Amino acid sequence: MTEVQLQEFKLEPDSELRFEVESKNEKVVLEVKSGYAELFGTELVKGKPYEFHTGAKVAVFTWHGCTVELRGRTEVSYVAKETPMVIYLNVHAALEQQRVAAEQENTRGPVTMIVGPGDVGKSTLTRLLLNYAVRMGRRPIYVDLDVGQGHISVPGTIGALLVERPASIEEGFSQQAPLVYHFGHKSPEENIELYNTIVSRLAEVIAERCENNRKASTSGVIINTCGWIKGAGYKVLTHAAQAFEVDVILVLDNERLYNELKRDMPKFVKVVYLPKSGGVAERSAAQRAEGRDARIREYFYGRRTPYYPHSFDVKYSDLKIYKVGAPSLPDSCMPLGMRAAEALTKLVGVAPAPALQHRLLAVSFAHEPDDHVPHCNLAGFVCVTAVDPERQVMTILSPQPRPLPNTVLLLSELQYMDNH
Ligand code: ADP
Repeated sequence: MTEVQLQEFKLEPDSELRFEVESKNEKVVLEVKSGYAELFGTELVKGKPYEFHTGAKVAVFTWHGCTVELRGRTEVSYVAKETPMVIYLNVHAALEQQRVAAEQENTRGPVTMIVGPGDVGKSTLTRLLLNYAVRMGRRPIYVDLDVGQGHISVPGTIGALLVERPASIEEGFSQQAPLVYHFGHKSPEENIELYNTIVSRLAEVIAERCENNRKASTSGVIINTCGWIKGAGYKVLTHAAQAFEVDVILVLDNERLYNELKRDMPKFVKVVYLPKSGGVAERSAAQRAEGRDARIREYFYGRRTPYYPHSFDVKYSDLKIYKVGAPSLPDSCMPLGMRAAEALTKLVGVAPAPALQHRLLAVSFAHEPDDHVPHCNLAGFVCVTAVDPERQVMTILSPQPRPLPNTVLLLSELQYMDNH
């Protein structure tokens, strides 16, 4: 059901307005008329219009009460009095105490990992806790291990950012100088060996950076994870917990996972159970795919602030394309001295061909295709928009003008149809 075009809501203290924008090419404008409100931990400026587009699922929360206006078609819009915000604020307060202690004792601030099944609000809680930390003058590190959504770069990657200011309402956290590693698939399941390798690598690099940045180190790290929590997915989570030497694990809405972690984590790791918000909306597979696509489009074209990517031809002979992970064979079939698992992080050459059309290519900082490439972070991404086998050239969409840097390109399973 579609609702009216202009709506005004009076929010009592400690309540939130939830709305969704669903129809295609729809835009909803939000404005705070009076009082104070925040969106996933970022303060809204009174009288300033904020735009939300198709697919947005939003909650405007107020601690003190406010009046909010919505212009445009919303699929759902209602005020909820029951929210877990006080509980989340208490978590923030506890982390803040640990940061104060870290400052006084010259130790490391809390490393927190957020886990739970899909669609329970993990990414939203990550954003909230980072925003609250940075609003207190902290400089926390945001780590995203969710290869399915790719909040820091594009899907199929993991990454980290130093958060220096609250997330923008419309564009999220500023993407300046992120640290990004290539995975190339939508789920860790596709190559667990590679996933664990890059998670360990990211943890190592962050630990090194913290040694040189006292402020970041005392502010701590907040890690968002994938919703894959059963079987091998659980092992992947415990591996990440170990790699990052986490102090706190926040488990959203899954008692079984909470009990498993309580049982398996060392005693110094605090495992905390948290309820999910009733507002978190479940997404269908199609909506997830749309989300991934939107994320990639945003990478090349920007959102509120438009980017102007470049398109140019590159000769086949100038491209060094590889994929990570040889097909897995039993140990007995491997070259002498090599384990089957090792093959999963090896580079395999990929010949330019029409099949690569629409695929993303990660631009590595590595110059040579050696064993260290998976440990190298990425400069960015390009997309193959056309392939001409006769002229032996590929057309590339790139955030940077030509030429492509003379580095290794890593093939991703992710595709993007550029019909901009
Ligand atoms: P997860 O990371 O666990 O998959 P997300 O944090 O991405 O879950 O949340 C799923 C969706 O629900 C997102 O689109 C988010 O904007 C929305 N959402 C989260 N919290 C609320 C809320 N309180 N009210 C309305 N929508 C919400």
